[in-house]
Amino acid sequence: MPDLTELATGLQFPEGPVVMPDGSIVVTEIKSGTLARVQPDGSGTVERFADLGGGPNGAALGPDGYLYIANNGGFLWSEVNGFRIPIDHPTHTNEPPGFAGGWIERIDLAAGAEIAFERGRRRGTVRATLLVDASGPAGALARSLGVGAGTFPGYPETEALYTHFEGVRRWDSLHASETPPYPVDAAAVHHVFDGGWIWVLRFNNGVTSAGVAADSAIADELRFADGAPAWERLIARLPSVRDQFAEARATLPFVHTPRLAFRASTAAGPNWALLPSAAGFVDPLLSTGFPLTLLGVERMANALETGWDSPKLPALLRDYSTVTLRELDTTAELIGALYLHMADFEIFAALTLLYFAAASFSETARRLGKPTLARGFLLQEREEFATGWKRLLAAARGPLTGEARGQLLREVAAAIEPINVAGLGDAKRRNWYPALAEDLAAAAAPKLGADRAAIDGLLARCGFTASPRTP
Ligand SMILES: Cc1cc2nc3c(=O)[nH]c(=O)nc-3n(C[C@H](O)[C@H](O)[C@H](O)COP(=O)(O)OP(=O)(O)OC[C@H]3O[C@@H](n4cnc5c(N)ncnc54)[C@H](O)[C@@H]3O)c2cc1C
Repeated sequence: MPDLTELATGLQFPEGPVVMPDGSIVVTEIKSGTLARVQPDGSGTVERFADLGGGPNGAALGPDGYLYIANNGGFLWSEVNGFRIPIDHPTHTNEPPGFAGGWIERIDLAAGAEIAFERGRRRGTVRATLLVDASGPAGALARSLGVGAGTFPGYPETEALYTHFEGVRRWDSLHASETPPYPVDAAAVHHVFDGGWIWVLRFNNGVTSAGVAADSAIADELRFADGAPAWERLIARLPSVRDQFAEARATLPFVHTPRLAFRASTAAGPNWALLPSAAGFVDPLLSTGFPLTLLGVERMANALETGWDSPKLPALLRDYSTVTLRELDTTAELIGALYLHMADFEIFAALTLLYFAAASFSETARRLGKPTLARGFLLQEREEFATGWKRLLAAARGPLTGEARGQLLREVAAAIEPINVAGLGDAKRRNWYPALAEDLAAAAAPKLGADRAAIDGLLARCGFTASPRTP
């Protein structure tokens, strides 16, 4: 028997392997209409770099360096006894609708990525040295290149239902007995319940965006797919939300997102990249979407500034992918733990402090002109904080009874202490956090390496005039 080594799996009906001058192997994939590059080193790496459409079949490298493809125009497919065959089993034809024959195409491998597109009846291809997908959850490029799905380990399946309303009552008109240190209705009001949460975002034109994100058990039970009736069933269970929406009227149809969280298996290849929101999404609970996107755009800009027109670019894009997915995973670790404790407000509120402490420290460091104090998302480059983060979120997944519960609360307080610049966790504040100049002043020298003048300068630049009411 010859000695066989499997170089790649999961290919989409591969054909026409061509060994390239650099030793890599380019294969066509008839089922997905794509070209993929396989590495001969046994790493199993498959990089899809072109979406040609049709059914790319035989391939050969021309003397001019171009790759020539015999595209058969595409097949119909059936699954028979677990086997995928290129024929429509019931009709015994393999010609797709509108089949007009095959074609020969020439690919300039040096020119980067190529994808086919369809708009109405128009078909065409786009070719670029680097394709960046900014299509958000639509994941146009990821789908086109057949980028596989990854998972957030231990994260629940979640769904969302949302729309715009008029006539939503102000929270402060319903809960006048509380005296929060800021106008609650000018912020995002969150209502948390076992298995999910509701957001209420009041715009300044009388319209309120509101919706629910919940695990699939709740979404199934309330039948989110029904839209408005599901919303009514939900708020009927939650008296304070029902009061807030007693006179509300939806102004747009409800949107149901049956799969809220998603993650791609990779966020970049040698000549393509997904912006963070196309590479994955976790949940709006902590408003992590925009920071993740903006940090990704900054990272991409840095990669292009350093690596454009240079052989370093593929490695820089690999790093971009690693960091982008790591930041999404970090977010999912925390929000996954929060979903577990939505019925236990004390633990829920304590775990959110990991986020609020890291976010407010990062924001302050940047505003002080000291971005190196907070390089990674949610301070994950600070070894001590990152280790504590992992340990505490793992502990939060275990049973939290008796001593374990008290220990978790104490350890969260200890983990955030070195970066706490906002008085977080101070029991006297009862989870209401005003923006107080003295919190920053107290944290200035020991935590931010800044003096009082630097803090005063920051406050002045932010238009901060006086401390608001304390609770
Ligand atoms: C319900 C909900 C609430 C959220 N709340 C918050 C929050 O409070 N705070 C926060 O920080 N983040 C929040 N997010 C996340 C935030 O919306 C995203 O992180 C952010 O919009 C990402 O920006 P983006 O430009 O990368 O993608 P998007 O805003 O998704 O924009 C992608 C655009 O591409 C277009 N597009 C898609 N496919 C194609 C195609 N084939 N061709 C051409 N165009 C295409 C789309 O129409 C869209 O306009 C929320 C998300 C959801 C779903």
